[in-house]
Amino acid sequence: MKAFVYENPMTMPLREVPLPEVGECDVRIAVKAVGICGSDVHGFRGTTGRRKPPIIMGHEFSGVVDAVGEKVTRWKKGDRVLANPLMTCGICENCRKGFPNVCSNRHGLGVDLDGAYAEYVKVREDMVFALPDSLTFEEGAMVEPLGVAMHAVNRTPLLLCESLVIIGAGTIGLLTLLSVRLKGAGKIIMIDTDDDRLAFAKKLGADEIVNSKTTDPLEFVKSATNGRGADGVIEAVGISPTAALSLQIAANGAHVTWIGNSQPMVEINMQQIVTRELTVSGSYGFISEFETAIEAIRSGRIKPMVLVEQVAKLDDVGRLIEDLSAGKINPVKVMIKLD
Ligand SMILES: [Zn+2]
Ligand SMILES: [Zn+2]
Repeated sequence: MKAFVYENPMTMPLREVPLPEVGECDVRIAVKAVGICGSDVHGFRGTTGRRKPPIIMGHEFSGVVDAVGEKVTRWKKGDRVLANPLMTCGICENCRKGFPNVCSNRHGLGVDLDGAYAEYVKVREDMVFALPDSLTFEEGAMVEPLGVAMHAVNRTPLLLCESLVIIGAGTIGLLTLLSVRLKGAGKIIMIDTDDDRLAFAKKLGADEIVNSKTTDPLEFVKSATNGRGADGVIEAVGISPTAALSLQIAANGAHVTWIGNSQPMVEINMQQIVTRELTVSGSYGFISEFETAIEAIRSGRIKPMVLVEQVAKLDDVGRLIEDLSAGKINPVKVMIKLD
């Protein structure tokens, strides 16, 4: 089969590789749609260090069951499916306490298990979910990032009509915006450095948009919240300046959720957390939000396809990731469609 193999930083050629072999509890899926994730672009540059070559990346996908192992009972060839890309052990203390997203023995499809920038991908049976008939494969491929955004929103306590700031208008930031509107947020302020993205956020329902290159975001948020700061902040960038900003713009006693994951070490003002009693949470992956995301799309409460600004073929993945990495193109979401 054809697959893009990440072999070294900045090197991800299209290769002919063997079809994934199906173990007794595995399901092989013919990929029909796969989204390009910003984390793959970072991974391609080798800056995050989480993806160890050689690996096939791609974790936001849907498709059709192609083959199943002997012990698989719930799926058969031809089923329309999608898969949770996190493979968890189910028996560690984290899994048993209900936090499989931070399983001590977790593996990630497209991170340390071969993923979906390929014609076929293999997953364990329990990672597979049915794709409702009314959802397109492309919508199915948006479930994973939506689940990530929804988990961050669930990690951020917010009373009706309280204010929320989202830092970063990438796919996750924008899906966070759509999700937090469902939760009944009051004023939603979106901060980014890209005017096009901010205009997009406005279209999706952000009340206020701030370009932090041209406007002081701290002053802006203060004046938009009667000098108090935001009741909730979700950081969806993951670098030092935005991590620091997320604390500065929070109201005393507020909750700050970090979902951005680009730079391992950041510099923040710890005293802000202590003396203003901020709560800072990390948010990683999702738990039940994967199914919530399926249902939110099925019911029409969230329409994620508005974020897809470019559709391409599997053969284009390598070039697109290079262009995204070089900043030559800047679509919100690129969706790969396979025949
Ligand atoms: Zn992703
Ligand atoms: Zn576990």
